[in-house]
Amino acid sequence: MRGTGSPEAFDVVVVGSGTGLLAAVTASELGLRVLVVEKSQYLGGSTAMSGGGFWIPGNSVLADLGVADSRERASAYLDALVGDRAPRERRESFLDHGPAAVGGLRRNAPHTWQHMREYPDYFPEVEGGSAFGLFALSLSWAWTTLGLLMRTPQAVMSVGTVVLFPLTLASNVFVRPQTMPGWLQAFVNVNPVSHLVTAERGLMDGQPAAGQVAWVLLASAALVAVFAPATTYLYGRRR
Ligand SMILES: Cc1cc2nc3c(=O)[nH]c(=O)nc-3n(C[C@H](O)[C@H](O)[C@H](O)COP(=O)(O)OP(=O)(O)OC[C@H]3O[C@@H](n4cnc5c(N)ncnc54)[C@H](O)[C@@H]3O)c2cc1C
Repeated sequence: MRGTGSPEAFDVVVVGSGTGLLAAVTASELGLRVLVVEKSQYLGGSTAMSGGGFWIPGNSVLADLGVADSRERASAYLDALVGDRAPRERRESFLDHGPAAVGGLRRNAPHTWQHMREYPDYFPEVEGGSAFGLFALSLSWAWTTLGLLMRTPQAVMSVGTVVLFPLTLASNVFVRPQTMPGWLQAFVNVNPVSHLVTAERGLMDGQPAAGQVAWVLLASAALVAVFAPATTYLYGRRR
């Protein structure tokens, strides 16, 4: 739309039609007169192309699904991650108002929002983060060993793809094992990725299964015990 009146005729002027559209809709909900100014011929900016995933702790989608999530956990996570590199008030404000923003999104957008159970925090190893990181850190020793044995990074990546893709696909990440043929279920049940995912889901839901968590801790210890010395040995021999 072009030339829809002077800015003085509006209570709120939103510049850019990406995430700003939520501000526009919210202001409109409150009965304010809103103008959205967009420089391109398209509506939505990069927001319209995005995956639409959001990291907003304590939101109502999680609450409706009974997922345990707390402002304290998120605050500890951000404190550990950001420290004093940005004003604390800014992230506190994000935590305070994020759930209301999600509420506005749910009222005004015709989408169904889902909890991505198996999607970890980007920095799971820091305080308040979710637990995939410990295992990933331990597994990374296997790749450093391979890196010292193979000639190129591409070769290591190829091995990683050949090993990790089948393990991930034949696990409980994407499909409920109960719906799989019996022979595949048998593999899924012993697949380490399934154990890892079950442990992670329990932790994220606030109902950790002790056996699964212990399995992940033992597997992590075993990976480090085997591959850390191997990496050190190979590195020393190369020099
Ligand atoms: C493929 C892809 C997937 C992504 N997936 C995710 C995801 O799952 N989760 C996530 O959190 N983030 C994701 N992102 C990042 C996320 O989309 C952006 O960080 C976010 O959309 C930025 O929002 P914005 O409102 O700041 O900018 P934009 O959405 O880009 O909106 C800015 C708008 O302002 C307009 N504009 C600029 N200058 C002016 C001006 N002077 N006057 C008027 N209008 C102007 C632009 O044309 C544009 O329309 C993804 C990004 C991409 C590209």
